[in-house]
Amino acid sequence: MKFATKAIHAGQEPDPTTGAIMTPIYQTSTYWQASPGDNKGFEYSRGTNPTRKALEDCLAALENAKYGLAFSSGMGATDAVMKLLQPGDEVITGDDLYGGSYRIFTKIFANYGIKFHFISFADPENIRKYVNENTKLIWVETPTNPTMQIVDIEAVGKIANENNVKLVVDNTFASPYLQNPIDLGADIVMHSVTKYIGGHSDVVMGALMLNDEELYKKLWFIYNACGATPGPMDSFLVLRGIKTLHLRMKAHCENGRKVAEFLKDHPKVGKIYWPGFEDAPGHAVAKKQMRDFGGMISITLKDATLEDTFKIASSFKVFSLAESLGGVESLINHPATMTHGSIPKEVREKVGVVDSLLRLSVGVEDIDDLLEDLKQALNP
Ligand SMILES: *Cc1c(COP(=O)(O)O)cnc(C)c1O
Repeated sequence: MKFATKAIHAGQEPDPTTGAIMTPIYQTSTYWQASPGDNKGFEYSRGTNPTRKALEDCLAALENAKYGLAFSSGMGATDAVMKLLQPGDEVITGDDLYGGSYRIFTKIFANYGIKFHFISFADPENIRKYVNENTKLIWVETPTNPTMQIVDIEAVGKIANENNVKLVVDNTFASPYLQNPIDLGADIVMHSVTKYIGGHSDVVMGALMLNDEELYKKLWFIYNACGATPGPMDSFLVLRGIKTLHLRMKAHCENGRKVAEFLKDHPKVGKIYWPGFEDAPGHAVAKKQMRDFGGMISITLKDATLEDTFKIASSFKVFSLAESLGGVESLINHPATMTHGSIPKEVREKVGVVDSLLRLSVGVEDIDDLLEDLKQALNP
């Protein structure tokens, strides 16, 4: 099946009792058993729920994976992956990461004796300097949040495989429509479903997709034992959101390109980060592993203080100043004080998260209104 068909149908059958086309919201915590253990595969909703099951099968299909697991947030999904590790294990990850990933690695799992190496993946060969017998996991985010760096998933996957290390890719920024890491050699794909997959800024959810049965069983054990699983209403909302994922992504990419082109030569703009430009550092790899370049763009404002930056960030009329991304509505974010506020100043500035950086999540509104809004906000 092709992507658009999977987005609408995967994991979903007309309801066997009523014929309902939409998967019902099975708002139940528990299930009747004819005698102990004699049930229909559902026992207790922390572990299994039919609405969530339909969603998980759909999520797996979108990433060309066998298994999907939904979590009550992206961080819940990340937490479950990290719980595969033991004290003494080592993780190699990027030096430009979502702030919450950096925070859970350094403030939670480092305390349990797991060692993290934050490195540049610009040249994947760099990984070899950090791999040793304790290395268990490579955690990649691409494109990165917020500076849109591109990591060559296939090249990293090869090195991971040679060294018997699992590769996890946080695919949130690309969405499954633009990039499928498992096809490129990743073992696990992680998503903040909150973003493009949900797409309507009304649900917080996370997911893992993978092929390996043994790994799936370990992760399902953690998922059920630790219990960060989403409820049926949220599962339903995401199933509904996914039905337009392909349509939304096309529009995000189209508007993203026009906004990026508008900003590129704007006199108020210093640097611009968008992998679609031919002279962007990751362009060739992005072209190879992604189907298009998405609607996430970051810019620095030329000669702007923190105060100037705040003033511009607060003067938009169509873009809303808010955390998060990937919804139908356009958002603007100030990474240094909002999404990446938990990263120390010296660490974030090294990778370009400076005080004058603004991140745009270009939505699917009419492009004329978006460009008009950018024009007035940048030239007050
Ligand atoms: C938002 C985000 C997360 C965390 O997901 P939540 O759903 O907010 O818990 C992880 N990675 C990236 C790239 C994100 O943008």
